[in-house]
Amino acid sequence: MDEFALIDRFFANRGPVRADVRLGIGDDAAVTRVEAGSELVIATDTLVEGTHFLPGTAPRALGYRCLAVNLSDLAAMGAEPLWCTLALTLPDGAEDWVGSFSEGFMELAERFDIALIGGDTVRGPLAMTVTVHGRVDPGCAICRDGARAGDGIFVTGSFGAAAAGLASLESGDTGARTIDRFLYPTPRIDEGRSLVGIASAMIDVSDGLHVDLARLLDASGLGAKLAVETLPLPAELPAGVEHHRAVELALTGGDDYELCFTVPENCSEALERTASGWDCAVTRIGETVTESGLAWTAAGENFPLPDTGFRHFGEDVE
Ligand code: ADP
Ligand code: MG
Repeated sequence: MDEFALIDRFFANRGPVRADVRLGIGDDAAVTRVEAGSELVIATDTLVEGTHFLPGTAPRALGYRCLAVNLSDLAAMGAEPLWCTLALTLPDGAEDWVGSFSEGFMELAERFDIALIGGDTVRGPLAMTVTVHGRVDPGCAICRDGARAGDGIFVTGSFGAAAAGLASLESGDTGARTIDRFLYPTPRIDEGRSLVGIASAMIDVSDGLHVDLARLLDASGLGAKLAVETLPLPAELPAGVEHHRAVELALTGGDDYELCFTVPENCSEALERTASGWDCAVTRIGETVTESGLAWTAAGENFPLPDTGFRHFGEDVE
């Protein structure tokens, strides 16, 4: 199938219809109506075969995942999703593959009411780049640099399941319950939006809880005291996984796409109220302090961080 037939069949006139899209797929560019008084929030993420996913990964999972990781960035800003574009590089025009890919993509687009308004389709090694557009009220985006000393540090959901799932996929164990946590992460859009006015800083956890929290703290010029025993561990981990390994996965495994955020003491009741309506758990794992560095403790004792999976800035471009 050629490029135009693929676009027509699988991407044009699919997914949610939004009144603020004046012109979607089909012209030289899309035209959207920006609500007066809104600020646009824009993010891009690329997935490349062999770097971000294994060759042979199910196309439906890739379609879902390339949008999910971008929605997670909007969630981390407290933004409402509006529109997205998709640049797809395909080794061939395989109809079945693109059909399944678009199903995964559109399933998530429907769920979060984000319209696919354009993109590009070219021949080359398998890769996909999604750009998402969202909105916030003026000045309301939740940035990484807003935390103050004494704020509580909280996370959504649980940590380590996606890394365990990726390990299972790599070892050829296709039956593990953790695999879906890697392939189909849930972007915490509603949770992120409900934290506007409550969270002082926020980040989504893609590279690992320790390293991503360190980024938030760096941006805020703070450190943290954290207790390992408070970490929310996933129910999906196989019974055979030892506790110390589960903790290591939770701290250093990536791809969970949960939110990590700080909340000033005077907003803790508001957090409790809003989080009582969430589909996922919220857990307090520590608090920010003025001294730099992340001090993890276990039963009150210093807990040395396992270095597996820890990527120093500059070592790796992902
Ligand atoms: P141009 O040559 O002007 O770049 P294209 O032939 O690349 O146009 O694309 C034609 C139309 O299809 C455009 O509206 C473009 O945004 C859209 N499009 C191309 N590829 C995709 C895709 N993978 N997903 C969504 N829209 C796409
Ligand atoms: Mg083009």
